[in-house]
Amino acid sequence: MLDYALRRVLNIQGIIMIDLQERIGARYEWMSADELADLQSQLLRRSVAQAAKSPYYSAKFKKLGLDPADIQSRDDITKLPLTTKEDLRLSYPTGMLTVDPELVIRMHTSSGTTGKPTAIFYTQEDVNNWAELMARSLHAAGARPTDVFQNMSGYGLFTGGLGLHYGAERLGMWVIPAGAGNTARQIMVIRDFHVTVVHATPSYAMHVAERMVQEGDDPRSLNIKIAALGAEPYTEEMRHKLQDLYGFKAMNSYGLSEMNGPGVAFECEYQDGMHVWEDSYLAEVINPETLKPVGAGEIGELVLTTLRRTAMPIIRYRTRDLTRLIVDECPCGRKHARLARMVGRSDDMLIIRGVNVFPSQLEEVIMRHEWLGGNYVIHLNTKESLDQMTVKVELAKTGFDGSIETLRARRSDLMKQLREQVGFTVNVDVMEPGSLPASEGKAKRVIDEREKVGA
Ligand code: AMP
Ligand code: ZN
Repeated sequence: MLDYALRRVLNIQGIIMIDLQERIGARYEWMSADELADLQSQLLRRSVAQAAKSPYYSAKFKKLGLDPADIQSRDDITKLPLTTKEDLRLSYPTGMLTVDPELVIRMHTSSGTTGKPTAIFYTQEDVNNWAELMARSLHAAGARPTDVFQNMSGYGLFTGGLGLHYGAERLGMWVIPAGAGNTARQIMVIRDFHVTVVHATPSYAMHVAERMVQEGDDPRSLNIKIAALGAEPYTEEMRHKLQDLYGFKAMNSYGLSEMNGPGVAFECEYQDGMHVWEDSYLAEVINPETLKPVGAGEIGELVLTTLRRTAMPIIRYRTRDLTRLIVDECPCGRKHARLARMVGRSDDMLIIRGVNVFPSQLEEVIMRHEWLGGNYVIHLNTKESLDQMTVKVELAKTGFDGSIETLRARRSDLMKQLREQVGFTVNVDVMEPGSLPASEGKAKRVIDEREKVGA
């Protein structure tokens, strides 16, 4: 207790702030654009040389006749080969490891549920750097050492648990490793320990809020200030709905296990795109078909290179995530490039009767309807050889005023808007509150039961 009181005093005096700046890597956070460019070139050279020590990249570079010394500046990045998830799978378990296994202190895997996962390794320095990025991200989002932080994300091989945990501890917050699920206990702990900052997937944050509302409770009574929400795609409309429900600021958090995990890109207080920490990652946006860079500010596939990782550097990793770089400067003054909210993953694109649709396009429309809750599932099946889409939505607790007429009119409005959004008829099933499967981690939004051609 005394220690805490002392910390508070020192904090107010600004004395431990110097230490804090060090812990979040503020010297990197506030670099000028030129300094960042120089640093990237220097770190890219080191990263490529390090990667060449792995069985995978040494064979790959040899095959391509590529000498790491050919890479002098970050402008040489396109001389390097792209790396895909398949490459990581083929080199499973340790084909991309560059250090003596004795130096590895941690591993995580991607959250894919089919086939072999991709395994990622960390040295002590890698874990420290990751924690620094995570602490910096949370700090940029407004979290401070005096905050109490509840991590409502699954621990274990998934990076959202330990990743946020180490970062939040490094920032100096009071950390509660709640893990995923057990909603009643989550709510109790948030209340009893005056939690001010949380981390969850947006779908789980929605579930917690709706559970509270159904039980006659008000999520605003929790007094959460900031929520770091990520690990799955969500729309601006979903963010607004969550902010309205809780009264917190919802900050978009992006990362992937192949690039350590969360802490790759994060929103600052302006909530307008996520700063990708360029002292640690080199970001490109390419056309997924031609594999050439897209024009400034155009949507394409995000490609990332680790710049500060020792155990397992990854060169030009094709994330499959579709986004664009925001070209103008952020009012916060940070020079790290910003990524716009992800449209989705290229693998999540649905092709319905020849039309390309992302679940996020439907979510955008659904979230505008206040009579609906925040959960939804997209069902696909085949009827008379044609693809059919049905969206299952839930009524909000106050969404039904007893009049079937009103409900019918609202449903037909929603169907009309969905049709306008995607260009074909989308059926809508309105369900009772709480009847769709609740998400504790990444929500499963699409159930595809279409007949496979030729099956
Ligand atoms: P994992 O394999 O568990 O590391 O999952 C990483 C993937 O989660 C990314 O490649 C994205 O597809 C997705 N993801 C993570 N954060 C976000 C976010 N803020 N917005 C959209 N998608 C995200
Ligand atoms: Zn900013």
